[in-house]
Amino acid sequence: MKPENLLPLAPAQAFCLNPDCPAKGQVGQGNLGVHSHKERRFVCHLCHQTFSARKGSVFYRLQKEAALVTQVLTLLAHGCPVQAIVVAFQLDERTVRDWLAKSGAHCQAVHEHLVEQPQDLGQVQCDELRVKAQRGVLWLAMAICVRTRLWLGAEVSPQRDGQLIERLIQRVKRCASALGGPLLFCMDGLASYPPTIKRVFREKLPRTARGRCQLVEWPRLLLAQVVKQYDGQRVSGVARRIYQGTSAAVAAVIQATQGVGAINTAYIERLNGTFRSCLSSLARRTRALTRTSASLHAGAYLVGTVYNFCTEHTSLRLPGLVGGHKWLGRTPAMAAGLTTHCWSVKELLSYRVPPARWRPPKRRGRPSAALKELIKQWG
Ligand SMILES: [Zn+2]
Repeated sequence: MKPENLLPLAPAQAFCLNPDCPAKGQVGQGNLGVHSHKERRFVCHLCHQTFSARKGSVFYRLQKEAALVTQVLTLLAHGCPVQAIVVAFQLDERTVRDWLAKSGAHCQAVHEHLVEQPQDLGQVQCDELRVKAQRGVLWLAMAICVRTRLWLGAEVSPQRDGQLIERLIQRVKRCASALGGPLLFCMDGLASYPPTIKRVFREKLPRTARGRCQLVEWPRLLLAQVVKQYDGQRVSGVARRIYQGTSAAVAAVIQATQGVGAINTAYIERLNGTFRSCLSSLARRTRALTRTSASLHAGAYLVGTVYNFCTEHTSLRLPGLVGGHKWLGRTPAMAAGLTTHCWSVKELLSYRVPPARWRPPKRRGRPSAALKELIKQWG
C-alpha cells in the first residue's frame, strides 16, 4: 500500500469539484462523505458524484507515487536538468516533461488564486530575460514586489514587444490595490513600459452621460527608469530618470520599501539570478535549451511558486521572541500575509484551488421551490 493511502480521508477539509454542483468549492458544509477508503474517493451527497481525493492536485491520474513525483519536481525547481532525472530515476523523458507541464499549470492556478489578490505593493520592479531556445530566442518578462520580495508572475514571448509588457503589467495590476499607498514602478529603459503602465492602470468612472465610460489613471502612480550604458560587455554608466512623479515622492516609496538607496532594478536582477540557477534551461552557456515557450512558461511558474511559498528568504527573517529561535524565517508569501507558514513542495503540489462559487442558472419565469431552496443555501 502506498504511504499516502494510510492517511485518513478528511471530508471536512475537502470540497466538491463538480462544475455543475451548487456546493462546488465550499468547505465544511457537510455535503461530502467518504465513498471508499481503499480507493480514496469522496462522495458529494448533493450532486451524488464521487471523486478521487487527488483530484485538483498535480498527482491526479499519475501512475507513479506522489513521493517520487514530488522528489522529481523539487529537483526540477532547483535547477536539475531533465536528462539527469531521466538517468537517475529510470523514467521516460516524456513522463518528466509531462509532469513539468502539469505542475506548471497547477502552480499558475495557485498563483492566480492566492497571489493575484489586491494588496499594497509599494515598489514593483520589472525586467525581461533573454532566453536562448532550441529555435531562436524567447523573452521572459517578470515582476517583483520589493517590500515582500513576492514574485508577481511571468510572461513569455518570442519578441520583446509591447504585447509582452502589456500582459505582464496586466498581471501586476491584478496583484495591486487601487486603495493602497503610492505605487512606484522601476524598470529598464524599454520604451513600451511607461505608456503601457499608464494605459493599464486606469479605472472606469461611473457613467454620467451617453457614450463611452471615462477612464481615469490610478492616483499616486510613479514611474522611474534605470538605463545602463554599455562599453562592450561592461556597464560604463547608469542613468536614472523619473518618468512620472516628483523625486520626493519616489524617494519616500524607496525609503519605505527598501530603506536607503537610489532608483534601482537590483531586486528583479537578483531574482533573475535565482531563476537562472533554478531553471536549468535558463543557465548561461547551457546545452539543455528550452524547446517551446510553453515549457519555459511552465518551468517559470514552478520555480516562481516554489520561490514564493516554499523558500525562506534571508532578508525577510525576523528576530524571534518565542521558543528559543534566534530568527524566524519567512517566505515571500508569508511576508505578504498570504500564508502563515513555509509550505513543503508536496503541500504546494497537493493544494486544490477551489472553483468559483456556484451561480444559479438564468431561466425565464419564477424559480421553482427546489431551486429557491438551493439558492438560499448555496447561492
Ligand atoms: Zn457536488
